[in-house]
Amino acid sequence: MKKKVSEIIKNSSSFLIVTHKNPDGDAIGSSLALYNVLKSLKKTVYVEIPTKPAYIYDFLDDYNNIELTSNFKDVEVVIALDSADMQRCGLTKDYTNGKTLINIDHHKTNPLYGNINIVEPQAAAVGCIVWEILKEGNLPIDKRTAEYIYLSILTDTGSFRYSSTGAKTFMIAADLLAKGVKPWYIASKVYEREKPETYKLLSLVLDTLEFFYDGKLALEYVTIDMFKKTDTTADNTEGFVNYARGIRGVEVGVLLREDEPNVFKISIRSKGNVDVSEVATKFEGGGHKNAAGGTIRAPLNEAKKKIIEAFDFLR
Ligand code: 5GP
Ligand code: MN
Repeated sequence: MKKKVSEIIKNSSSFLIVTHKNPDGDAIGSSLALYNVLKSLKKTVYVEIPTKPAYIYDFLDDYNNIELTSNFKDVEVVIALDSADMQRCGLTKDYTNGKTLINIDHHKTNPLYGNINIVEPQAAAVGCIVWEILKEGNLPIDKRTAEYIYLSILTDTGSFRYSSTGAKTFMIAADLLAKGVKPWYIASKVYEREKPETYKLLSLVLDTLEFFYDGKLALEYVTIDMFKKTDTTADNTEGFVNYARGIRGVEVGVLLREDEPNVFKISIRSKGNVDVSEVATKFEGGGHKNAAGGTIRAPLNEAKKKIIEAFDFLR
């Protein structure tokens, strides 16, 4: 199947790359990696994402070539990356009809919406799958492409810490380093350019921490009011949920983020064996075993109650 994808890449002339809204490092990295390869092959290629990538990614060479989803361009091949379903990347059947739709993902709930589907839940990042496609097809991996793939792996493995990290992850990373990637450079760009106001917001959020079920569930929240007070937006909350999970004895960390009045985006993270993707599906969401998300439409206190109840199996 990967060989087939590399053949399609070689034999087609126009491509649209799409990925999920609120794109993370894996979504952006895997998309720009393919974008850069297709560009170097002199293909017509666009990257369109439903929402603007967070500022922490603005150091990437092709950051300004990312377009916001509008009217999708007319192309032969559409490639969806890291998108658990078509809706998450804004694709519609009307648009994809008659085109080749390639679905490359690592969410186990992916309903295989493409004409070609490469869905590998065991892959640490979609960037790893992209690397394999490029390798199998003997497609060029230059330094820029290598940096994008490294970004995708670095961010989706929590800096090579999550259970998805294995020998293969490091083997791919070693190959990328051989192509010129400097781990300190990418890490310092992604993790050490925070805006001071983010820390002001973080201090308010940490003040909301509460524990349930003998300290196994840690809950924190951010409200529109807090964003206003600190002159911040949802972009500034990247990684906040990890503070909840990072506490000793905590098995599940949750961040409730008020994106619109009484509409909370939930981020859930777990350690070890607790599968949070199942819980997320109860809240219009989904995800992976240790990292998932969804939405709750209710006032704060009710939203808190709902999410606490959903974890009563921790009791
Ligand atoms: P985050 O908490 O960083 O927004 O999301 C963590 C992971 O949960 C994402 O990588 C994605 O797999 C999944 N996820 C988050 N929000 C949603 C959602 O609304 N729907 C689905 N299907 N998955 C989500
Ligand atoms: Mn991913």
